[in-house]
Formats: sequence, C-alpha cells, structure tokens
Amino acid sequence: MKYLKTFAVSLSVMMLLSACSPSPSESEPMLEPTVGGENTILRSTSKVTNDAQTKKIITTQESFQIGTHITIKVYDDKEVPNDVFDQIFGLIDIYENRVSKTISTSEVSNINENAGVEPVAVSDAVIDLVEIGQNYAALTDGLFDVTIGPLVDLWGIGTDHAAVPSDDARLTEMSKIDYQKIEIKPLDKTIFLKETGMEIDLGAIAKGYIADRVKDLILELGYDHAIINLGGNVLTVGTKPNSDAWQVGVRDPQSSSGNTMGILKLEDNSIVSSGIYERFFNAGDTRYHHIINPKTGSPEFNGMYSVSIVSDTSVDGDALSTSVFLLGLEKGFALVESLSNVEAVFVMEDQSVYVTSGLGDRFILTEKSYVIKSLTD
Ligand code: AMP
Ligand code: MG
Repeated sequence: MKYLKTFAVSLSVMMLLSACSPSPSESEPMLEPTVGGENTILRSTSKVTNDAQTKKIITTQESFQIGTHITIKVYDDKEVPNDVFDQIFGLIDIYENRVSKTISTSEVSNINENAGVEPVAVSDAVIDLVEIGQNYAALTDGLFDVTIGPLVDLWGIGTDHAAVPSDDARLTEMSKIDYQKIEIKPLDKTIFLKETGMEIDLGAIAKGYIADRVKDLILELGYDHAIINLGGNVLTVGTKPNSDAWQVGVRDPQSSSGNTMGILKLEDNSIVSSGIYERFFNAGDTRYHHIINPKTGSPEFNGMYSVSIVSDTSVDGDALSTSVFLLGLEKGFALVESLSNVEAVFVMEDQSVYVTSGLGDRFILTEKSYVIKSLTD
C-alpha cells in the first residue's frame, strides 16, 4: 500500500522532472522496490545510452526518496557499475532518515518531540542545516524560518487533509514560530527548541544540502561529468564531457503538464526553483501553495509564480529560492544582485519575466507568451 501511494506520487513528479532534465525526450524507466541498506527504496535499474554528441556513455538511475523523484545521470567511457548508484541512493537514504520530519525516528523528529523539554544530540548534517537556516532567517528578517513546522502541519498542503484553517488556529500556530528560540550548541552537537509545540521543518533546504553531498560523493568516486536531479533541484557536476554547457529547462509555472518556458545554460552550477506549482490545493478561486509567510500564517501571494536560482551550491540555491520567493520581486531581485555567483529568473503572474544582470545570454526564453522586462521599465 505504501509503495502504491508513493509510486503514484512519483509518476506525477516525473512529468516535472522530464521538463527539467537535460534530455526531456527520453522515456523514463520503471521504478521498483529494491532493498538497499536498512530500507526498501523505490528504484530503477540502469539505463545505458551512447551519447553521440559527447561520445560518452550515459548511465542513468532513478529513485523515489525524500518525497521526490530523483534522477542521477553519469557520463563516462563505460557503463557506471550498479554499486556506484547503491552508494548514491544509500547516502540519500542516510540523510533522509536524519532530516525528515515525517520519519518518527529521525533526528529532526527527535528535536521536535523534545521541544521545551531538553536538547537533543544530532549529527553534523543537522547542525549544518539548522545553522544555514538561521543565516537565511537573519538575511530575510525571519521570513525564511525553519521553525515553520506548526504552520506547515496546520495547512497540510500536499497531504490528503489540506484545508484553509480558521483565523484562530492560524494565530495559535503562528505564535510557535520563532527561529530565535532555536538553541544550537555546535561543540556539544545538540539542538534545543526552547518552547513546547515548536517544530523544525527543513523542507526548504534539505534537498539542496543532500544534492551537494551527492555531488561530493560522485566526484570522490572519480566521475567528473554528471547531472543530479532531486525533484527539480538540478545540480551539475562539471561541464558536459565535450566542455559544452548543460542546458536545463526552466519549468513553466502555469503549465500543468510540466512544459518549460526557458532554458538555462549551466556549468558546474545548481539551479533550484520555488513556486506556486509544486505543492498546492485549490479552494474557490485561490491556489494555496506551500511557501508560507510566518508573519501572516498563510501562503505568500505577491504576484510571483516562480523564481529559479542559479548558484554554486544547491543548498544556497534551495534556501535562496524559498527566501527570494517570500521577499517578493523587488527585494528578492536586490538580494540576488548583492550576492556574488548567484543569479535568478523571476516569473510573474502577469507573464513578465525578470532576469538578474549576471545571467546574460545564459537564459533563453522559449515560451513566447512571456515577456522579459527590466525593473526600471
Ligand atoms: P521550496 O520548495 O524549497 O521553496 O520549499 C518549500 C518547503 O519549505 C515547504 O514545503 C515547507 O516544508 C518549507 N517552508 C514553507 N514556508 C517556509 C518558510 N517561510 N521558511 C522556511 N521553510 C518554509
Ligand atoms: Mg528551497
């Protein structure tokens, strides 16, 4: 039953993935439950193709983990052995079991259960993630806040009990959100939430962090050219083997079938998007999506459909995509322009598209219903 449910979700994500994949026309292999380490992982076997352009062999495997569809494509002179993918999916499994709020034995669940009670010993990864969360909370004046858990639970977006909550319920949960009440002791390696009812949710940054760790592993194993795609968080390893840039599709946030609206050319970069199309439910004329403003207690509506961040590391791209979405166009644009090696593409409800200055000709608009504008227009 668990697998049937997961598999149904994975199929719906596949469409999005093919839009973000560098080779959108390839058909996707079937995923099957595979025993890997302690857990059964829904995973494909290898698909091996000869790439005429780069004269390399591409070995692709997919899985469904961390609530999303994952595709790993590695370029080499020969087929990449299965045990390389065992290591990659095994690593993702280890992190999922530490950071997932919905796994009752995870470190994050342990922190949440002990909110207001006592500090909890955690791994370096969870310390790193919460510290990164704190940096972005400071950068956004608390709009980005990893203690968003109570509001995420209340709205239930992406679950079968998603509903618009009452104002009272919203206010009650809002009062539990405050990143300044997280106590991190890096030397003791403990985290403590100071008030009962507080809850950490790392959904805005965990995929990016894990993608970075997968890239480290792939490089460590001696592969220099690969594409890591964690449900639309795309991280490229090196350039294509023939030194060309990778071309990654930017999802059209208005398309229900996962069409793209533009192409980004990337070399050793991450691209992460946040938007109203990822997880949502409709009630009346409103689409309630999953990025919640902790100061209103509701999904953020500011005319933005999506923002895609290009950065060196995926965790920064992930944190920034959510942060910039919450900041809105003007402030978000200014923040990205102030950071080195970070660029962004904003897609707005009125079909306008804004591209930060450093992207130059690395972004190509392909969907003609959109118009590129400048903030000074
Ligand atoms: P992303 O798709 O990376 O923008 O992340 C969205 C996820 O981040 C949601 O599903 C929540 O788990 C979490 N989230 C929602 N609102 C916030 C917020 N204000 N600050 C931090 N995380 C959030
Ligand atoms: Mg994010």
